[in-house]
Amino acid sequence: MSTLLIPDARKSNLERPWRLFIDGQFEDGGGERSLFDPATGAPLCKVMEASSDQVERALQAARRAFDQGPWPRTSAQQRAQFLFRLADAIEARAEQLAFVETCNSGKPLREARFDVAESANCLRYFAGLITKPLGQTVDVPAPSVSQIVREPVGVVAQIVPWNYPLLTAVWKLAPALAAGNTCVLKPSEFTPLSVLMLAEIMQELELPAGTVNIVNGDGLMVGQPLAESALVDKISFTGSGKTGRAVTAAAIGSNLKKVTLELGGKSPMVVFDDVDVDLAVDWALYAIFVHAGQVCSAGSRFIVNERIYDRFVETFAARARKIKVGPGLDTDTQMGPLVSKQHLQKVLEYIEIGQQEGAALLCGGDRPRGTIYGDGYYVNPTLLAADKSSMRIVQEEIFGPVAVIEKFSSEDQAVALANATIYGLAAAVWTKDVTRAYRVVKAIKAGVVWINGYHSTYNECPFGGYKQSGWGRECGPWGLHPYTEVKQINLNLDPSPVGWFNADAAFNQ
Ligand code: NAD
Repeated sequence: MSTLLIPDARKSNLERPWRLFIDGQFEDGGGERSLFDPATGAPLCKVMEASSDQVERALQAARRAFDQGPWPRTSAQQRAQFLFRLADAIEARAEQLAFVETCNSGKPLREARFDVAESANCLRYFAGLITKPLGQTVDVPAPSVSQIVREPVGVVAQIVPWNYPLLTAVWKLAPALAAGNTCVLKPSEFTPLSVLMLAEIMQELELPAGTVNIVNGDGLMVGQPLAESALVDKISFTGSGKTGRAVTAAAIGSNLKKVTLELGGKSPMVVFDDVDVDLAVDWALYAIFVHAGQVCSAGSRFIVNERIYDRFVETFAARARKIKVGPGLDTDTQMGPLVSKQHLQKVLEYIEIGQQEGAALLCGGDRPRGTIYGDGYYVNPTLLAADKSSMRIVQEEIFGPVAVIEKFSSEDQAVALANATIYGLAAAVWTKDVTRAYRVVKAIKAGVVWINGYHSTYNECPFGGYKQSGWGRECGPWGLHPYTEVKQINLNLDPSPVGWFNADAAFNQ
């Protein structure tokens, strides 16, 4: 029954060879992987994966393109024009891209459409930013002047996860290309399709060969060699902390390439007793259940004042049970499946672990039943009550539709609970008291804190984590700068004898 969910007319978007993109050409891979439809568990398509030789050739192509190719030598305006055209072309193919993204990742079509639109917006943002002044002139002691310029870093390796396949790739490609770098990007082995479509568009728009290379494959065969390669000047990684450490160790053990890390989270939403509970619950449901909780900044810990705790739980559970779980292509679906069978097992294990630790199951915890679900990877929206912040379900990233709720009685206790994990990616504070809101925001260690909101991210604003949620930021100028090296150019306007043996004279040069 299951494959019928993908309309025949649109199957052609999936039934074709999915190949590697190296040095401006698509080519067959050294191996092949079967992908499965998360909505049904049925086979989706096959994707070719890179051999070690192909990874090396992609790196060589990016190196050549940086050292001798046109891209780093174009003007900022020319690079911006390409990025604007790329954004237009993405929009022209938005429906195909969103369809493929939903089939591959399982996310509801509505969310996939948003990702595609945001990818185009991100490209336009960095196209605009790169034509604005980036350098500075510094008033140093006469007779010299120092000019600070930013130059591309060089060859950039980029490794992305499966939850936002297109958008996380564009968050990296847009600033890297704007700054004049060349790239080797590895999509997740589970979700490479939309990025390969992006490569097709880049090829049609005649991006110079080798400027962007896409190598499909798993972490050890393809990701690790990128992190180890001496041809790479910088690596930008988004994924789990465990892999982030491996990538960093490889970077340190090879050529000390620069490293940016966007890692996991266990983000709190602190709810004080002066809020409109219905409204706060509305946002809490969005905070955890968008993309079935497979969001790095998901609001996965609700820290709720004891005076409204019972009403919050009751309202949350009643509404969570009504969430329409289903296939992403069904336009009525509010929450889709998890990305893979392995991930489904992991999320179910955490629900089990939580209950063994003594957490009360307040809603969900099971899988939806019915023929529509086939062998898809669904889990119902789940809430667990935790009474100790040492519990694994409070500390560890579950990355599924599973939230924990904790109770507080004082502001200090709320802050302590909010900060009580190794993560610091995001947080939210819900209160009508603006003074308290700012006090709590200052005390929370997280890269983004929403007051009376959740999940809003902007191409213009930094995104990234405190503590073990990462190194560096993406988006805005904060996301562009790590793709540049800073060079000081000092011009001596009136060179006179250096006076090396006369300290006073030397200091004045
Ligand atoms: P993951 O760490 O398993 O994999 C991420 C990527 O790394 C994949 O492409 C994978 O193939 C590759 N990889 C695996 N082993 C590797 C190795 N040894 N060397 C190099 N590359 C390797 O993560 P995932 O399961 O794909 O994604 C989920 C994780 O990503 C969660 O922890 C989530 O919080 C995080 N994430 C963070 C952000 C953010 O912006 N902070 C955004 C999205 C996802």
